Amino acid sequence: MTSALNALRSLPQGYLQLKYMKLCSACLLGIQCRYDGRSKPNDKVIELSKEETLIPICPEQLGGLPTPREPSEQKGVNVITKSGKDVSENFIKGAEQVLVLAKLFGIKEAILKQKSPSCGCGKVYDGNFSDTLIEGDGVTAALLKKNGIRVLTEEDL
Ligand code: SF4
Repeated sequence: MTSALNALRSLPQGYLQLKYMKLCSACLLGIQCRYDGRSKPNDKVIELSKEETLIPICPEQLGGLPTPREPSEQKGVNVITKSGKDVSENFIKGAEQVLVLAKLFGIKEAILKQKSPSCGCGKVYDGNFSDTLIEGDGVTAALLKKNGIRVLTEEDL
């Protein structure tokens, strides 16, 4: 027991925190923050939350958008709602706020909701609200990756 404690004490400061603390899309943890006012709980993510500290974030709420809200998709460099409103600024602000949290907690990894215009990683909708996927990252996923944070989705667990 004493040797185990000594081993823990000899770890660099913040090691355990860095290893186990991750950002996570709040909707995957059962928080009702989606555009339709619902959540998207994922069993594997919830299971992981019993072993690791997952910090719930919803970039769209952090960017000032209400819940429920109109669905949005990326269209080129902008994010547009189904009725045609440009909400790019909200999406960028939300991503920046998530990055503030990531830096504050020394986050190295995030588990984000696939296909979302904020959180999607590798796959997003094409901007025509036609259920067509294209290659690309959501606004928050892209900013985190640009800042050296590894982004996984629930599909990678
Ligand atoms: Fe979930 Fe991300 Fe959409 Fe918020 S922005 S509802 S966390 S996918």
